[in-house]
Amino acid sequence: MHVFKRSTTPLLRRGLLVLLGLLAITAPVAAAATGPGGTEVPGQPVISSISCALQPAGSCAPGQLLTITGSNLQSTQQVTFVGGSSVRDNVVVKIAAKAAKPTSVQVTVPSRAVSGLVRISGSIGNPANSPQPLKIVAGLPATDDASGSKKLIAGGKRQATFKYTVSAAVVSGAQVEAVRGTDGKVVRSWPLVHSGEGEVVWDGFVGKEPATSGTYLLRLNPLAAAAAKVKAGSDTQFEMLEGFFPIRGPHALASSPGQLFGGGRGHQGTDNFAACGTPLAAWTSGVVQYNAYQGAAGNYIVVQRADGQSYAYMHMRERASAKVGSKVFAGQQLGRVGDTGDAQGCHLHFELWTAPGWYKGGTPYDSLPLMKRLDKLS
Ligand SMILES: [Zn+2]
Repeated sequence: MHVFKRSTTPLLRRGLLVLLGLLAITAPVAAAATGPGGTEVPGQPVISSISCALQPAGSCAPGQLLTITGSNLQSTQQVTFVGGSSVRDNVVVKIAAKAAKPTSVQVTVPSRAVSGLVRISGSIGNPANSPQPLKIVAGLPATDDASGSKKLIAGGKRQATFKYTVSAAVVSGAQVEAVRGTDGKVVRSWPLVHSGEGEVVWDGFVGKEPATSGTYLLRLNPLAAAAAKVKAGSDTQFEMLEGFFPIRGPHALASSPGQLFGGGRGHQGTDNFAACGTPLAAWTSGVVQYNAYQGAAGNYIVVQRADGQSYAYMHMRERASAKVGSKVFAGQQLGRVGDTGDAQGCHLHFELWTAPGWYKGGTPYDSLPLMKRLDKLS
C-alpha cells in the first residue's frame, strides 16, 4: 500500500490507522447494504460479473479482453488481478478513462495474471472485488504490445498476422478465427492447415467491406487449439480501424451549405478545408482508376475498392504519384491538399460512389458521415 507518504507525521499516521480500522469494521456492513433490495452507498463501485468473449463465464486467457460489469464503475483507474493470497503475485493494470463506463470496464488480461479475485479501484468509493475469482486458462498468448493498443487499419499495408504450428491430427472444424471483442462474434475464419507451420494474414476486411472499428482477436478455436500452438509474435489482439482519415493535419470538415453534399448545385462531394500542402492519405485500399487533371476538378484521383465502390479526391496541389492500375493501401499518401481547378481556398473535395463506381454507373453519396467517423479514430 502506498497510503503513507514520506512526510506523513506519526500522529497523522496513527489517525490513518484508526481510520483504516474503522473502514475494516464498516466494510462488511457496507457489503451487506448492497445486497438485493438493499440501499447502495451512492458512488460505491460494485462488480456483478466478470467475463471474456468466447470463454466460459469467470474464465479468461492472458491477452484476452476481460469485461467487468457492475455499477458505478466509471471512476475506475486500475484493475488488480489479485491472484493468490500473497501480494507478490498481484498484477495491476492502469485503466484509460474511456475504458471505464458506468456499468462496464474493459481490460486486457496481462500475461503474468494468475487465477484469483479481480479488484477495481478508482477515484470514487472503496476498491471492489469480483464476487468470484477469475480463472486464468491457457489460450491466447499475451499480445507483444504490453498496452494492448496496437492499431491496424483495414486495408492498410501492415496486416494482422497469426502464425501457428500444427503438431497433431487436424479434425474438421478446426480453424483460426477473427473475433470481434465487443460481442465475441466470429467475423472471419480460416481452416487449419493439416501439418507443420501455418499462417493467417487478415487485411481487416469482412467480405468486401472494412471491419467495423474496434478490438479484435485472432485465435485458434477449441478444435484447432487441440492440435496446434500459436507462435510467439502473432497478432492476437489489436485495434482494427475501419479506415484512415484522409487529411493528415489540422482541418475543418464541410459545414456550410455550399460545402455539403447535394445542395442546390448538385455538389457530389464534401469540401473539407486544410492548409495548402497538407498530406492526403487513402482512406481505404483499392486500385487507382483515374489520375488526371480536369478544369473543374483540378488534379484528382479516383480509387476503386474491391467491392466496386470508388472514392475521389479533387483539387490536389500536384498530380498524385500513384499510377493508374496500381494498388493503394489505407493510410498511403496520395497527394496534398491544394486549390487546383475550380476551387476557392485549399480544400479536399471528397466523393464516395456506390458500385460500379465513379462515372461507371454508380451513384455519388454523402461522404460526411464517413469523414466524421474516421476523424474520431485516426
Ligand atoms: Zn467540392
